[in-house]
Amino acid sequence: MRSVRIESTGGPEVIRLVDVATPTPGPGQVLIRQTAIGVNFIDTYHRTGLYPIPLPSGLGLEGAGVVEAVGEGVTRVKPGDRAGFCSGPIGAYAERHVVAADRIVTIPDDVSDSIAAASMLKGMTARYLLRKTFPVERGTVCVVHAAAGGVGQILVQWAKTLGATVIAVVGSDEKAEIAKRLGSDHVIVSTRTDIAKAVREITGEGADVVYDSVGKDTFEASLDSLKPLGMFVSYGNASGPSPAVVPGVLSAKGSLFFTRPTLFHYTRTPQLLQETADDLWAAVQTGAVKIAEPKRYALADAAQAHRDLEARRTTGSVILEP
Ligand code: NDP
Repeated sequence: MRSVRIESTGGPEVIRLVDVATPTPGPGQVLIRQTAIGVNFIDTYHRTGLYPIPLPSGLGLEGAGVVEAVGEGVTRVKPGDRAGFCSGPIGAYAERHVVAADRIVTIPDDVSDSIAAASMLKGMTARYLLRKTFPVERGTVCVVHAAAGGVGQILVQWAKTLGATVIAVVGSDEKAEIAKRLGSDHVIVSTRTDIAKAVREITGEGADVVYDSVGKDTFEASLDSLKPLGMFVSYGNASGPSPAVVPGVLSAKGSLFFTRPTLFHYTRTPQLLQETADDLWAAVQTGAVKIAEPKRYALADAAQAHRDLEARRTTGSVILEP
């Protein structure tokens, strides 16, 4: 079968498509024939080495398709069932992938594989950020960075259904239109506006919570956008890693809270994964959160998908089709 491999860390050019033997599921594992593979920004961190992984390695944590074989002891799914996953193991950029049965996400009948691959990892992230990391409620003022991106589009819509006032931050006018269409109350175009100043003009005292996935480039602006006792949720590094947090600065800027969460801790048990997935599918099925048709690339074009994602050329989600 065809599978993506990287032998070393580096730019998108290190991505190679190779032929490998189809793996066999071991005890408690499931072999999935994938029809759609989620591309996530974290895949670029694995490729560059920002998040170190053992090499050589595959790439990708998320996919959807059909169960082709199950290992000993698996009763949750059987060959022929639809199945998805979004917590690895790394290596989803492939025609088939072996995952642990207890990390399988059941996909509702009315959600296609491509929408599942576009929304599981990103939507579950939005869910824990809004419901667990900082429980957003009616009247909460939140700043959402990269609001027209994969996670961002879901965050904006979900925050609105919870009654929040959403201040979206985006990198272009085209993305501003998307953020507005999704229901954002205010949109800031980061490439020509002082983000913190604009947030203060809108809010007076500052925002209750900032969801920052951009990292290095927006760190100071996020700190300066919060009201006293506000929460800085640093959940990504699309522009590079954030600088170290100095406790005294949190105090000086308003007794702020700072957290650096990751989906894997919020879905670390099968129960937490199920609860998170149930909430996501409910939001998708009721239409509270609409998942835009993802941008599709052939598996062989995974390097181009990375180039476009890293160059800020994509909006919404990106998937690969084997
Ligand atoms: P996105 O579709 O959001 O793409 C990244 C976006 O970041 C770009 O479109 C761009 O939007 C913005 N950006 C700003 N500066 C840069 C830069 N210098 N280089 C590249 N992009 C930049 O990706 P995903 O939806 O896959 O992921 C969004 C973020 O969420 C990532 O940082 C990812 O790591 C993080 N994440 C974290 C999780 C967690 O649990 N901690 C789980 C899932 C995702 P614009 O042009 O509008 O600024």
